[in-house]
Amino acid sequence: MNRVVVWYSDGAASAVAAKLAVDDHGERCIVVKADTTDDEHPDNMRFRADVERWIGKDVELVRSQKYTGIDDVFERRRYMSGIAGAICTTELKKLPRYAFQRPNDVHVFGYTVEEHRRISMFTENNPELACEWNLFDRRITKARCLEMLMAAGIELPAMYGLGFDHNNCLGCVKATSPHYWSRTRRLFPETFARRAQQSRDIGCRLARIKGVRVFLDEIPGDFGDDGPDGAIECGPFCEMQTELFDGEWVRGVLEQASVPVEERRRRSEAGHHKTGAEGV
Ligand code: SF4
Repeated sequence: MNRVVVWYSDGAASAVAAKLAVDDHGERCIVVKADTTDDEHPDNMRFRADVERWIGKDVELVRSQKYTGIDDVFERRRYMSGIAGAICTTELKKLPRYAFQRPNDVHVFGYTVEEHRRISMFTENNPELACEWNLFDRRITKARCLEMLMAAGIELPAMYGLGFDHNNCLGCVKATSPHYWSRTRRLFPETFARRAQQSRDIGCRLARIKGVRVFLDEIPGDFGDDGPDGAIECGPFCEMQTELFDGEWVRGVLEQASVPVEERRRRSEAGHHKTGAEGV
């Protein structure tokens, strides 16, 4: 019997996706997190325990065998992030995922109905994977996910209440928003100082102000921190960013999502589909 693997991230949507998948598939279902807990807000552990009680299943943690956390990755690799993405995503999320997954797994993600573009990109970049889009298929929105958690008596992770758009590691190196970094400096000064020093040592200008890349310690002290954080989703799969969002293209890729996985593998092997630079 093939496994149904839910890629859980301590976010509201993946928690609801896990709940639905466990209800739908029972013992076949495994809920997995690519583990960066030590680099995240400590409240994530409270949230995860609440979710485990709600779904009736423990979250399995998969970890890098090589690195202890994001600082270890930055310091040993002398790299943080750039056009090709963040090195910590690859080392701590993608590679552990490769080691964990099996060819006949069915994968479940917390992509809501608003995220049809993300689903399209994912399908384009990972044609060999069989996926179940249980939030999209049920037309479940982000707001509905929050309602479901509230109805279950589960408080959202603290990062959202602190004004962050994503529940990423503290001082996430995918972020270029000076608002994000200004908020990080105010709320997590030690993390900010460490990331600022690492980025100076490595020579990586993480933030961008008016189109110009700057070091974190060049962000003015009075820079506002109530602006958007930008698209800094981070997970164990390849989701290349693209601006090629026309309706026809999106529909075409969504149609491809309904092609059986064996057929998609065959097409992929035959070179009918391109994969991204970090395609799996
Ligand atoms: S959330 Fe940010 S810092 Fe953490 S692994 Fe992903 S890209 Fe790296």
